[in-house]
Amino acid sequence: MSDPLEIRIDAERCMGSGNCVFWAPDTFDLSEDGHSVVTDPLATDEERLRIAAQGCPVGAITLWRAGAEVPLEEGS
Ligand code: SF4
Repeated sequence: MSDPLEIRIDAERCMGSGNCVFWAPDTFDLSEDGHSVVTDPLATDEERLRIAAQGCPVGAITLWRAGAEVPLEEGS
């Protein structure tokens, strides 16, 4: 079926706001140096991951599938 979703975090942009951890605590965590890290990409459903990515104030989270960036807005 569809390829697994890949989550990328731009560590240069991430300013440790923790929004992603709020939206998807099973998938994101804050490291000791205050940057978001992915702990389990499969622990959160895709819709919620999209919300978490949209909720990042600096746009540091992108979602990828099969090498292509997945749009964060719900496609129609
Ligand atoms: S929401 Fe964005 S800036 Fe905030 S911790 Fe997560 S990745 Fe970093």
